[in-house]
Amino acid sequence: MFDFEGDLLLDDGKYKKLFQIAEKLHSTLNIDVLLGEIFIALKDIYPNFSYHLLLSMDTHSHSDLPIIDLEYDNDNIAAIQAFESGNVQFENTQMGHAILYAPLKGKREIFGVLQVIAPDTKEFPINEVEFITLFSGCAGGALENAQLYQQSLRTISDLKLINETSHQLNSNRPLAETFEFMSTQIKASFEANEVGFFLFSHQLTKAKVLPGSTPYFFTRQARIYVDYIKEKLLKENEPLFIGDFTLSDKNHGTSFHSIMAVPVVVSEKLRGFCMIMHRCPYFFSFESFTLLQSLVHHSSLALTNSMLREELKVLVTTDHLTKLHSRKFLDEKIQSSMKNDGEGTFILLDIDNFKEINDTYGHQIGDEVLIQVANLIRGNMREHDIGARWGGEELAIYLPKVPLETGAAIASRLVKKVAESSEPHITVSCGISYWNKESQDSYQYLFKRADEALYTAKETGKNKVVIQGRS
Ligand code: GH3
Ligand code: MG
Ligand code: MG
Repeated sequence: MFDFEGDLLLDDGKYKKLFQIAEKLHSTLNIDVLLGEIFIALKDIYPNFSYHLLLSMDTHSHSDLPIIDLEYDNDNIAAIQAFESGNVQFENTQMGHAILYAPLKGKREIFGVLQVIAPDTKEFPINEVEFITLFSGCAGGALENAQLYQQSLRTISDLKLINETSHQLNSNRPLAETFEFMSTQIKASFEANEVGFFLFSHQLTKAKVLPGSTPYFFTRQARIYVDYIKEKLLKENEPLFIGDFTLSDKNHGTSFHSIMAVPVVVSEKLRGFCMIMHRCPYFFSFESFTLLQSLVHHSSLALTNSMLREELKVLVTTDHLTKLHSRKFLDEKIQSSMKNDGEGTFILLDIDNFKEINDTYGHQIGDEVLIQVANLIRGNMREHDIGARWGGEELAIYLPKVPLETGAAIASRLVKKVAESSEPHITVSCGISYWNKESQDSYQYLFKRADEALYTAKETGKNKVVIQGRS
């Protein structure tokens, strides 16, 4: 009788303890802190036992805590059984200690198994089984709460990111700014090393790097990654999640191992893709892969709209026949050069006796001749020079920061090349004008001087270059 009361008292004490532990475990929503607390409580109650947590959930590495990943191919049958059935399992070893496995059970799922080892006994002390079962249930419940809380935090921040990005994208900003914004957002949220946006050419042969991509994607080294992803997307048209990227070509070491790529699809057409990379293997989580997909999916329409706007701008600034710049584009570039540079040379070029060409060979051959001259101009220009269709069969070249004599030499070379290589044979005449910071000048006046020089060239025999004010 007395003993029985004693047992009750003991139980009462234990339940009180359990209540205190439950309170403690439920007071934190931080999974790492919670795991630490579980071990502190166990050590406090069972200083002579040893324990491990076999967890099925992803946690950060806890080198200081006895936590093991619970894997299905584990040969610890009792542990797997406890995990799968949700019931406590026992194991008696040959080494003279008994082991108990208690599932960490939440309301919705089981997070792993608590392994408790009682030394120097053949049977696990039966009096402790109920307590440990209740304890592990309580730990499971606390883990579930903490996990749900962290998931909801993550979901809120994901939604915020998507919402903010769509909002920004729909505000009709220029393409570069749009991508710049997305790039910054993605880099920060995914902790990516590199973020790139690519636009496919119409035949899907090329993928152009878009502004806003991180600088690495503009380098040659990036091509191995971009080409690989491009080919794979074209073949499979599915988002890509690569944990440890390696190349079959052993000569190429790879610097980036984690890669995620999502195609930009609008009206069922593949328009481009977004790819992000990290140096470490298996850096991105599967959740972040899903997030990147939502982000790109939500932004696809806005992205394509700004891509189309940009293409339209190119169309407007490019001459359809010659593919040289339009007059409007040239005007703008010269005006900005006259504001920002120190000097510049302007060449106006007109095909000689073009009416005859049209009359003799027809308009179509006339067009082809015009294209030949345009190609010669393009082939003789440097990156910052601007070749344009001035109107009709008159073409123009503007050379920013180029002195008059250099410009004249370029024009002479061009006149010579046209005379040598055109088919049917034609010649061209050029008028040249020049400005520098020392004289008051306007771009209208610059054009007028070149036009006058061209007129002189025509008047004095054609197939030649005339410089402003000289004849
Ligand atoms: P000049 O040596 O004095 O320049 O003689 P020209 O015959 O070239 O005379 P002009 O420059 O005044 O004539 C321009 C001709 O170029 C008129 C038009 O038939 C032709 N032309 C203008 N634009 C085009 C074009 O896009 N394609 C073709 N095929 N011909 C064009
Ligand atoms: Mg003309
Ligand atoms: Mg002409």
